[in-house]
Amino acid sequence: MALKDLSTAELETQLTDARDAYAKFANRGLLLDITRGKPSPEQLDLSADLLTAVTNDDCISPSGVDVRNYGGLEGLRELREIFGELFRVPVDQILAQGNASLTLMQQALTFALLHGTPELDTPWATHSRRIVCPVPGYDRHFALAEELGFELITVPMDDEGPDVSAVRELVATDPTIKGIWVVPMYSNPTGATISEERARLLLDMPTAAPDFRVLWDNAYGLHHLREPHGQMLDVLALAEEAGNPNRVLQFASTSKITHAGAGVSFIAASPENISWFLKHLGAGSIGPDKINQLRHLRFFGDAAGVVAHMAKHAELIRPKFDAVISTLEAQLAGSGIAGWTNPDGGYFITLTVLPGTADRVVKLAAEAGVKLTPAGATHPYGLDPDNAVIRIAPTMPSLEDVSAAAEGLAACVRLAALEKLLAED
Ligand code: PMP
Repeated sequence: MALKDLSTAELETQLTDARDAYAKFANRGLLLDITRGKPSPEQLDLSADLLTAVTNDDCISPSGVDVRNYGGLEGLRELREIFGELFRVPVDQILAQGNASLTLMQQALTFALLHGTPELDTPWATHSRRIVCPVPGYDRHFALAEELGFELITVPMDDEGPDVSAVRELVATDPTIKGIWVVPMYSNPTGATISEERARLLLDMPTAAPDFRVLWDNAYGLHHLREPHGQMLDVLALAEEAGNPNRVLQFASTSKITHAGAGVSFIAASPENISWFLKHLGAGSIGPDKINQLRHLRFFGDAAGVVAHMAKHAELIRPKFDAVISTLEAQLAGSGIAGWTNPDGGYFITLTVLPGTADRVVKLAAEAGVKLTPAGATHPYGLDPDNAVIRIAPTMPSLEDVSAAAEGLAACVRLAALEKLLAED
């Protein structure tokens, strides 16, 4: 029965039970961290062979590049071919770079701020600027844009992606709105995948800024949890069809595929955007770490090798997602105080609790030894107006620990909701 339908006396009884459940949870003395989407040690072990894939006797790429030396700003061609195939991008329109796609996002925005874009050589830094942030979203996108002086404007997300009518209305008349963040597949944190219809609407909408950019952060495009899985959109082709080939900058990396701290990142875009990016990139680098790129090339072999490797990740992490979902179901279904996503891929589950209680839940969990991402982190400036969204990252702890954390979390959700309902009574 929904808690809000209970009488005060019934709520008080439930509160006593909830306090007991919470005390039991706290007494277990757990020390767990489900704050960030990191691969578990077992997932990192899947890529152990990377560390021996290149030796000094064997450091020439298939096309004859000595990867120890300078050069090759675009990144190793054969690796770009593999990831170009996976991301549906011609090899000349994808670059392979260092270990962090976030750095590529920072570089793209910084180049636009300092030098303008292929369409408009007015540097973005010369005027005030805004960026659209679908919520709930990824805290590092928000922090990066804020640090670069963008005002963050929120629009809601649903199961099919950002609310495109809201976006279209905003961008149609305001030339200071220069872009939108989109995590197209298995978004961080809700797991939503954008529909083709919404993608097309974003790509062909009229924008007051002639150099508006869709920052298409395809971080989880290969991270399916279940089969059969959805297909990746050919976003560059869609942008071209819409007559706005330069509108999209696509980003990805192997951070959650091989070693999170030592992977390879990718940027894919129109030929014009790629030459613009390379021109500015070349001022600061003679070339990326090609030894690591050759390691990745040898480790995967081909696109099928990447797909097979991702299936091994799914085997390891699917049980953790399932454990969290089934615990939440068992503890909270029908209570009317929480909802949660059950994603088909990616790294996160979004838990939506009774409005006004997310920060209390996070605090209760922390005091009982389970660290969660701070409430509000899923929203620009750390401000969730409903104080209701909590991001759960189930991949890093063991299955046993993540199940214990989910059980404890459910106890915190119930306790915080009962406290609130009784305070309002
Ligand atoms: N984008 C999204 C949506 C992410 O969730 C993450 C990792 N949490 C990143 C980018 C970071 O990617 P990288 O390691 O390539 O910088």
